[in-house]
Amino acid sequence: MKRSLIADSLLPIYDKVAAGVRISEADAVTLYGSRDLHALGAMANLVRERKNGNRASYLLNRYINYSNICLLKCQFCAYRASRRDPHAFEMGIPEIVEAVRDSLGQGITEIHMVGGLHPSLDADWYLQLLRELKALDPKLHLKCFTAIEIQHLSQRVFKKPLEETLTILREAGLDSLTGGGAEIFDAGVRDQLCRGKESAEEWLHIHRTWHQMGGRSTCTMLFGHIETHEQRVDHLRHLRELQDETGGFTGFVPFAFSPDQTPLAHLRPAGGLETLRNLAVSRIYLDNVDHITAYWISMGLPLAQVALNFGVDDLHGTIMEEKVFHMAGVQTPQQQTVAALESVIREAGREPIQRDSHYEPVSVR
Ligand code: SF4
Repeated sequence: MKRSLIADSLLPIYDKVAAGVRISEADAVTLYGSRDLHALGAMANLVRERKNGNRASYLLNRYINYSNICLLKCQFCAYRASRRDPHAFEMGIPEIVEAVRDSLGQGITEIHMVGGLHPSLDADWYLQLLRELKALDPKLHLKCFTAIEIQHLSQRVFKKPLEETLTILREAGLDSLTGGGAEIFDAGVRDQLCRGKESAEEWLHIHRTWHQMGGRSTCTMLFGHIETHEQRVDHLRHLRELQDETGGFTGFVPFAFSPDQTPLAHLRPAGGLETLRNLAVSRIYLDNVDHITAYWISMGLPLAQVALNFGVDDLHGTIMEEKVFHMAGVQTPQQQTVAALESVIREAGREPIQRDSHYEPVSVR
């Protein structure tokens, strides 16, 4: 997009982005308020192509949601259950191992495993699970647990300090942490949406500690509920600051809130334009995070394809079986094939590439 086509109000920000200069929080709020989606896309593409060229990646992964039984009751969560609820479920270790063994035959390189804060699974259960999964294939990357699960394991299950808990989990096979549970960092929003969940400071402390141990993780944002643009920018600021400090985030994965089946069902979900706007602003603002992922589970593959020209350079993975968003009524498929992911990438004019859990290219395992 030519500079002459950019609205005057966005030109100072466009010039910063074109020159590779970091934008401010005020700039990001201005971008969120802009209706000129094409200009946002053009700016986001400048950053995207500077960092990743024409490449668009995907991952061969399988999700494991081992249980939805959870001690907390986050308002936005349609997934959680109490033990006696009809929709409560809990997978046994043999069942999980069998599911992963099956998926290994399909070439997966990563297991992405999260669950609720289970009231009675003990330390041995978690350690045995990690060890048995690792024994299936030592090269299989185990990306497991949100920050709140790690806090639960540390405080209630292992009853050990955070770093010691992470060390024990790593020795059993944990390779990286998921970015879930960040939601929106603002304390007022968290108080309304997920009272009792870890605070922003605790989420950041868990990821900082993991990064300082040499670990990597992704980071996320749950948007499109009660948050303001300023609160989104505040969330991104925390992530950018921690990334400046540790460099441990591999990619950023925003999810649009899905209100069906939750106490917040009266809220209108973010539409396609808002989802693209959020991806584009995130790409521009998070200048120190290399990769931005379009999460097709929440936004659908057609919109994720469009996002490849709004700052996104990654379409996440094959996933194979997802429960968290689908229990909230999301109608997207449960899985994607490599052929489908490569096809939408090519159709968008990008070059498909299979990646590993750290967004590095893989060809043949
Ligand atoms: S979001 Fe996670 S911690 Fe909150 S209720 Fe759902 S499963 Fe539990």
